[in-house]
Amino acid sequence: MPTLYVKGEWISAREGGSRTILCPADGSFVGEVDEAGPEDTARAIAAAREAFDAGTWSSSSTLERGRLLHRVADLLERDKADVARAESLDTGKRFVESEYDVDDVVGVFRHYGNIAAEDTGRVVDTGRPDVVSRVVHEPVGVCALITPWNYPLLQTSWKVAPALAAGNTFVLKPSELTPHTAIHLMRILEEAGLPAGVGNLVLGAGAQAGAPLSEDPRVDLVSFTGGLETGKRIMAAASSTVKKIALELGGKNPNVVFADADLEVALDFALTAVFLHSGQVCSAGARLVIEESVRTEFVDELVARASRIRLGGPFDEEAETGPLISAAHRDKVEKYVALGLEEGAELRCGGRRPDDPRLADGFYYPPTVLDRCDTSMSVVHDESFGPVLTVEGFTGEDQAVETANDSIYGLAGAVWTRDAGRAERVAGRLRMGTVWINDFHPYVPQAEWGGYKQSGIGRELGLAGLDEYRETKHVWHNVRPAVQQWFRG
Ligand code: NAD
Repeated sequence: MPTLYVKGEWISAREGGSRTILCPADGSFVGEVDEAGPEDTARAIAAAREAFDAGTWSSSSTLERGRLLHRVADLLERDKADVARAESLDTGKRFVESEYDVDDVVGVFRHYGNIAAEDTGRVVDTGRPDVVSRVVHEPVGVCALITPWNYPLLQTSWKVAPALAAGNTFVLKPSELTPHTAIHLMRILEEAGLPAGVGNLVLGAGAQAGAPLSEDPRVDLVSFTGGLETGKRIMAAASSTVKKIALELGGKNPNVVFADADLEVALDFALTAVFLHSGQVCSAGARLVIEESVRTEFVDELVARASRIRLGGPFDEEAETGPLISAAHRDKVEKYVALGLEEGAELRCGGRRPDDPRLADGFYYPPTVLDRCDTSMSVVHDESFGPVLTVEGFTGEDQAVETANDSIYGLAGAVWTRDAGRAERVAGRLRMGTVWINDFHPYVPQAEWGGYKQSGIGRELGLAGLDEYRETKHVWHNVRPAVQQWFRG
């Protein structure tokens, strides 16, 4: 069955062929999908351009757009079990986590359904009674939406929902490793009544199916979520036509624990911060930055609990976390751990592939803790994107902040303390787009998400997440035009 969606039709790739998707948990067959090449992507761009310029969607009322987004949310709720199953098979993540993800996706569509009509413009006081001046928002145009494999549908919803709410057309290019929920979403958009050409889907490798999106002059905006190096390539390619760009890149996020925190709660959250989804989370708390006076007892207990985390496939009810996405990704994680040990880190648990025969066909890697780390080490600086926690000690508030901020990234971080004043002081000094106080990981679609420094450009979610997809126009209307005689003639 064809799996590219262009101009309201399901079509096969003309150039690229097909790709077989296998489940990373056990290598079982998941599906066969089209693999697009540059020519296929060009066709999708042409369809999105034509639909935008025709104006059917871009000039539709915000009320109508909001209604469609709510219909999409309804249909996702109807299909929740199928969508969650597809997500788990592509990613290997636990079925229950995929169910939570679908709930979050529904929330994102409802949020943008609710705020599509929000802040649509304002009247400006020019001080002149003969002038009506207003600032209005308009859609940007054709948006290229490029997404990663770790939260495939969720990351997609953060782009598709605001792009549609603002009246844009789009070409979606999901990760080649996890295409199935994007296919399902396009079917739902079709069923919800999205006009042909407004939403288009290309599947395939970044260099072939994705790269043309940043270069093509018919694309007005590239919104990308993925790794730092890919982000730099996209930024460079987009500069040739001065496209707008929104980049959600990596993170190496500090979880700062003071001795006066509720250590039982902090410990529990420190585990989820880093080992949720086997560390394949952009905001993972992969750096434990802990006050020296409690370091030994805290890390000893953390290591004991991390060693007991049970690995398994998506439908194994005993499993607490799943595999890594691919063999290549596991190799990368292993390389970082080896490098950390060379750099002087102390291995406290994990650090080698499990020998459990149950896990032999999947890309599993155990929760790993490296103690005695510092910010000179690449295992601390670079994003391994796996279940690897590094531990750095500090003494005093200033050192905690300096250590936490010593990173090229600035996506997210947390501070744990019972002292409210200290919590606020530290939160204010952390150079990150999200700071949690006595918590880790929660987000809501009402609040902005994004990175400082090399974690990205722009924001997703919240009202700013809608503004990424809107142009701002000033309309000056002289209602009583009269000769002004600047030049006497
Ligand atoms: P990746 O950069 O390898 O790929 C992301 C997407 O870009 C994929 O669809 C890929 O096919 C495509 N791509 C690759 N090269 C391209 C090119 N030249 N032109 C256009 N598209 C191209 O990232 P990944 O491995 O899929 O995802 C993991 C990364 O994503 C991590 O670094 C993680 O931190 C980041 N991430 C960030 C956030 C955030 O909110 N900041 C959220 C999730 C993931």
